[in-house]
Amino acid sequence: MYITCIGADIIGFIGLLLIWGIWGKNLRFEKKPIALEGQKPQPGLWALTCDVKRKRLSIFKYSGMTISPHAIIYREGKRPKENYVWSRIQEHEHFHCEQYEAASLIGFVVLIFGFTGWIEVLLSICIFIVAPWLYMGAAYVTSWVRGEDLYRGAHTEEGAYAIDDFYDD
Ligand SMILES: [Zn+2]
Repeated sequence: MYITCIGADIIGFIGLLLIWGIWGKNLRFEKKPIALEGQKPQPGLWALTCDVKRKRLSIFKYSGMTISPHAIIYREGKRPKENYVWSRIQEHEHFHCEQYEAASLIGFVVLIFGFTGWIEVLLSICIFIVAPWLYMGAAYVTSWVRGEDLYRGAHTEEGAYAIDDFYDD
């Protein structure tokens, strides 16, 4: 899965490292530690993460944001300091990782079957890289077109909020 995501993840990792370098702290890889009580083991994959200092980047109003299939930024104080504790926002963001992973598979298929001419190759490489964001963007656009709230009406958010209901705030 890291292979099908690598195009977007390279950009995501660079972006995350820049954000971490300018506004962030607590750079670390994280993964769901163990199956939580009442849940089947669904560990997911490792993601590179950091916390954004609240005062330094005030425009970042969400508790967390998944910026590429395996890169996540959190607002400072919104996740536990320890790596072995898991919280609602982490469950939510890692759900978005899985959505990005599924979308990246589409991009990967386009990449594999796109090798017929150099324009097609360029196009397929572009689609391969941006497929996760195309998918997430499509979720917001279709939500808006349906007349729903652009953010909360997106099926990607409805799913993420449904799965993070398991946690207390
Ligand atoms: Zn979300």
